[in-house]
Amino acid sequence: MKPRIAIFSLTGCEGCSLAILELEDQLLDLLGAVDIVNFREGMTDRAWDIDIGFVDGAVSTPEDEKEVRHFREHCKVLVAIGSCACLGGINTLKHYQGATGPKGRGAIGENGSDAYRRYVYGDKAEWFPTTEARPISAVVKVDYELPGCPMVKEEFLAFVTSLLAGRTFKLPDFAVCVECKKRGTLCLYEKGILCLGPVTRAGCNAICPAFGSKCEGCRGIVSKEALVAAGINLREQYNVELQEVLDDLRLYGAYQEADLP
Ligand code: SF4
Ligand code: SF4
Ligand code: SF4
Repeated sequence: MKPRIAIFSLTGCEGCSLAILELEDQLLDLLGAVDIVNFREGMTDRAWDIDIGFVDGAVSTPEDEKEVRHFREHCKVLVAIGSCACLGGINTLKHYQGATGPKGRGAIGENGSDAYRRYVYGDKAEWFPTTEARPISAVVKVDYELPGCPMVKEEFLAFVTSLLAGRTFKLPDFAVCVECKKRGTLCLYEKGILCLGPVTRAGCNAICPAFGSKCEGCRGIVSKEALVAAGINLREQYNVELQEVLDDLRLYGAYQEADLP
């Protein structure tokens, strides 16, 4: 019997689910090896006996919390896909609106920090309950994470292939800079631009610097060991402190203070 796969969405743009549909020819090969039994973006059936469940989007509302617990209950393996599901993602930007906490971050509802809700929904704000935006691992056990905004399609295929073959799958634990240098891209620090590549997990083939944009850290931060090495390089090569770079790491909610060296 083929493994039964589901793809779910919480709060996000659902771009990671769409990335699966965009696999086109490779999706047809994949469909030969698995049964997709629950996928709001692509089908009307809703089965709940699931071997591998993929979830995009963050937990950002009370309804998300309920749904992700339901997914966990019905999936033997649960996989977070994309920055929203793995890190909280761009949803975490709401924590900075009107907040007065450390680094401008504040709990929702504290000191008016849910002002963004009133800004967006006006006098209907109370119709849209919200919580702090979190990765799904903050609510349920997650077996694997495939970060990125959107997730990297090739990484998704490599992951599914590994899982079906019973092989272990590991994300790269080195910085985006390694891939950037392999591509021969001129480092943005040479132009005086602060880039988050030194502290961000590789796997995207350093696509943003290749097109002239700084890395914004959508794949999350590297391990502590790799961060320490990044700190030394940044100071020696560019006279930049690691903390300055980490302070800029907020767009995707990747900055987890507890994990820093
Ligand atoms: S990670 Fe990016 S592409 Fe994926 S759901 Fe979130 S915002 Fe959309
Ligand atoms: S700092 Fe940015 S531009 Fe420079 S090598 Fe690293 S990823 Fe590339
Ligand atoms: S370069 Fe950085 S921001 Fe761009 S896709 Fe890669 S990890 Fe994400």
